[in-house]
Amino acid sequence: SIPLGYFGGIGLASRNGILFKGSNFLDVMTKINTVIMDKTGTLTKGVFKVQEIVTGDIDQNELIRAASAIEINSTHPIAKAIVEYAADKAAGLKAENVEEISGHGLKGTVEGKVILAGNAKLLKKFNISYPAEIDALVDTIVVIAINDKYAGYITIADEIKEDAKQAIQQMHDLKIQTVMLSGDKQAVVDKVAKTLGIDEAFGDLLPEGKVEKVQGLKDAGNRIAFVGDGVNDAPVVALADAGIAMGGLGSDATIETADIVIQNDQPSKITTAIKIGKITSQIVW
Ligand code: ADP
Ligand code: MG
Repeated sequence: SIPLGYFGGIGLASRNGILFKGSNFLDVMTKINTVIMDKTGTLTKGVFKVQEIVTGDIDQNELIRAASAIEINSTHPIAKAIVEYAADKAAGLKAENVEEISGHGLKGTVEGKVILAGNAKLLKKFNISYPAEIDALVDTIVVIAINDKYAGYITIADEIKEDAKQAIQQMHDLKIQTVMLSGDKQAVVDKVAKTLGIDEAFGDLLPEGKVEKVQGLKDAGNRIAFVGDGVNDAPVVALADAGIAMGGLGSDATIETADIVIQNDQPSKITTAIKIGKITSQIVW
């Protein structure tokens, strides 16, 4: 039989907007020594806005129209920002043969031209050279190539969640090490990690790179909670001792796979979940 304290713990968590999918995870949470978090949508709001359009030879409007026609086919938060920004300019423009290249961006054809829209890695993959200063920019960017030639980039910005810094501090108070993983550029990742005081941060990761990092930390004997929101986060959510999904912004696959769902997306609920686990196990034992 399941001890009564566990039901109390699940109820207490639920009143705090934290859904435990099984009472055993209350216990698992008390043993976590490492919290690994995705950046976009977990520590940041995941709502991007276009800031600047930087082009070489071509017109800014041409760049944003091509990017938007491609990005309308993606559900990535970056794509939504571009489509929203270009709504009037790109009306009626359609892309063909669009393919999403996981962790990189998109490829497609617009008005007979082959368009690439994604990160610098995407251009490297197609052997297209681009200005070196792009890698050093401390902004999230979407780089565009038209017919195998670099055409420009769009800078987009996201905001750190209000309680993110406090959440990291609370983890450190509980002697938990903090790690951030992201597919975004290392320069952006380093800046966010420094602002929040995160112990270790890894950027430029493909989905399989995130899996490798989590597996490595697990093999080193750590008890891992992973917190994510995106489609690509489902494999790492499954791998962690406690897989946690942000329920508001999260993709269905990640929410489905998760052991624990944080309904209002606040990172500070991670330590709330640990504390409820600790209170509950004291009642049980
Ligand atoms: P993350 O959510 O950590 O950024 P993803 O694997 O979802 O990780 O994406 C990794 C990177 O690939 C993004 O940061 C972005 O640079 C690029 N990318 C992915 N999808 C798109 C897209 N639709 N448009 C532009 N860039 C994209
Ligand atoms: Mg993501």
